[in-house]
Parts: sequence; structure tokens; C-alpha cells
Amino acid sequence: MLRRLSVSATDPFARRLIEGRGDQRGDDPIFALNAEAVRRREAGEDIVNSTLGTLLDDEGRLATIPAVAEAYRRVPIERGAGYAPIAGPRVFLEAVIEDLFGRSELARSAAAVATPGGTGALALAVNCFLEAGQSLLTSSYFWSPYQTIAEQSGRGLETFAMFTRGGRFDVDALGSALERAGRSQGRSLLFLNTPCHNPTGYSLDEHDWRALSGVLGAVAERQRLTVLVDLAYARYCAGDPRAWARHLEPLIGQATLLAAWSASKAFTQYGARVGACVALEAEADERERVRAAMGAYCRGSWSNCNHLGMLAVSECLRDSELALRVERERAELRGLLADRALSFTRLAALAGLVHPRYEGGFFVTVFAADSGRAAEHMRARGVFVVPVPGAVRVAICSTPARSLPRLVEALRDALRATGG
Ligand code: PLP
Repeated sequence: MLRRLSVSATDPFARRLIEGRGDQRGDDPIFALNAEAVRRREAGEDIVNSTLGTLLDDEGRLATIPAVAEAYRRVPIERGAGYAPIAGPRVFLEAVIEDLFGRSELARSAAAVATPGGTGALALAVNCFLEAGQSLLTSSYFWSPYQTIAEQSGRGLETFAMFTRGGRFDVDALGSALERAGRSQGRSLLFLNTPCHNPTGYSLDEHDWRALSGVLGAVAERQRLTVLVDLAYARYCAGDPRAWARHLEPLIGQATLLAAWSASKAFTQYGARVGACVALEAEADERERVRAAMGAYCRGSWSNCNHLGMLAVSECLRDSELALRVERERAELRGLLADRALSFTRLAALAGLVHPRYEGGFFVTVFAADSGRAAEHMRARGVFVVPVPGAVRVAICSTPARSLPRLVEALRDALRATGG
């Protein structure tokens, strides 16, 4: 007979979760804020919901790329429904490498594995390129799941001040932080999210890249250095999405370069969980060791990824007619974002809001001394943004253009009421 399940206080073995797991939050704070915004809207309130990082059209519907749906229709069910190879289908991996590097020399130094979205690539990097107990390094403004990923893997996260007083990317702060990490760990793993950084919207420009590649080159002479470029939003940038590879190429042979590639935003396939981790290694032997280690990590974590999704995305990248349609349809979405960005930056300037250089992408942050109270103030008026330390994040991607004047006004008032 089955024993009745009990969590009563008399159970001497209650609380079986291991140390540290019992006080974790299962829900993401951003999703919790979004849930409140949705509930209040359904109850009849006029809400501006600028929390979620998905691209919505001005009617609030998920913006999608119709050509991607066509690609799904082309995949035979008996292929898409079967298990994918552990490291990902060859056609997919080759298409991703070509997407990143074209047919350049760099493609020959690349080893790729499939991951569930860019998130999978980040987790893989933390587990393969840091020892347990060591910390990854990223900018002081960062996508908060970086921290969760590090903690889940028994690693930590350290930051460097992202901006100088003048509002430029602080390359010196980054260099000093890498030197410190090198002294204490003998190695560093740097996460750089550019272009269209989440949450600030900042994209490294040519000047930043030149300074940065000099600093990274010097650092790589003194420690084991791995640099991961998180390309989650790369397809929505105003400039050259391959700038990172051009500038970091001289590091190959001195450092390991990783690209966290994702179809979530690029192909509006957030739920498909299609991504890849692409490593650049100069030496063939080392490249094979890295490829094998990444494959082993895939097997021991998610095993294999969404076969149907990867085949459909491969079709979008490989079929020239479909690739053109995707480009065209994505360009419309980029236009939608660019219009909102222009409108936001104009309104923000009139309202005296201070934010990093922002030329497009899904988010922008506005500096706020007490961001928690400022966001709270706005929430009371039915305007939802996400507080991060020192700023509030505005998800331009999910905010219709017509709501931006109300959002900026609420933000200006909130900053005035909470000390700027
Ligand atoms: N990196 C950043 C900065 C993100 O904002 C996101 C998603 O929001 C990701 C990576 C990963 O997204 P996905 O796992 O859906 O590719």
C-alpha cells in the first residue's frame, strides 16, 4: 500500500532540497512584473507594459517572420520528429558558421555545437571554460540570468563598471578586472553582449572595439582568456553585425573566442530554443578537444536540441530565396524598432532623461538613482518597466509607439519624485 504523502512538521526528513536550493525564486522577476501588468490590463486598466524582451507589433501581437513558417512547412515530419545528433545536425552547424563568418578564413577555425537558444551556449561556456568556484566577468549592467547560470553551475559572477563618466564603454575598467581575475584564477571568461546590449541598448562602436581588442591582446599574454560574444540581438543592430569577428580575429591563437548564437530574436523563434555555441580555435588539435568537450556537455545536460526547429532555421539560412524573404521581413521589424528608438530618444531628450548611447535594439535603460522606487512609482500609474541596479530598463521592443509619450512622462515624474 502506498504511504500517504506528507509534508507535515512531524516528517523528520522534510526539507530534502539541498543547501542553497530552498531559498531560490522559481519565477523570474521580469515575468512576475509582466504577469501583474497582464492581470491589471485584463481587469480593465489602461496599462503600458514595457517589461518583456519579445518584439510586439503596435497592436501588441507577437511580431513574427512569415518566411520562417514556410521553412517549417518544408521539413518532412519524419526528419523533424526524430532525435537530432547530439552536437546538432551538420547542415545547421555549417549554416550557423556561414551566418557568422561568411566564407572567410575564420570559418575554418570554427567548431560549433547546437544549444537550446543562446542561453544554452552561455551555460556551456561557464561549465567548460571556468573551474568550479571561479567567476565569469561581465559589465556592471547585465542580463540577470547570467548570474543564475553561473550560480546553477557552482560558479560566480564579477562585474566591471560599464561606462566612464563620459558615457563611453569603460575599456580600462574591463582591463583591470581581467587582470584581477587572471591573478586570482589564472584564467578569465568574459561575457560581452553586443550589439544591442541588454539592458542598456549600447553597441560597441569602432572606437570601443579598437581599444578593447588592444586590451584583450595584452591580457591574453598573461592568462588563459576566453571571450564570449553574446549575439542574442545582433540581427537588430544599426551597424555591421560581424564587427566583433573583425576586431577579435587577431586574438585567435592567443585566446578562445566563443559566439553565443541564437535564433530566438533573429528568426522570432523564442520558443523553438534554437541556438549554437561556436568556438574559434587556431590549432586543429585544440579545436577538436574543444568540440569534443562541448559535445560532452550537450550530452550531459540537454542531450540534444529541437530537431525540427534547427532544420527549419537551416532552411532559412541555406535556401537563397527563403533567406532573402527572411531578410526582407526582418528588415521591416528592424524598421519598427528603429522608429520607436528615434521617437524614444527624442522624447527622452526633451524630458531630460539620461541614457547610454542608443541606436536601436530591443532595450534602453534610463539611469535612476533609486530604480526600485522609480519603477514602483510608475507601476502605480499603470506603466511597467524593469528596475535594474542604477537604472530602469525600457523594453522598446514590446512598447507600441503611441505609448512612448506616456511612458517617458511617467518616467520623468518618477525620477523627479525619487531623487533623479
Ligand atoms: N543573452 C541575452 C542578453 C538575452 O537577453 C537573451 C534573451 O533574452 C539571451 C542571451 C538568450 O536568449 P535565448 O536563450 O532565447 O536565445
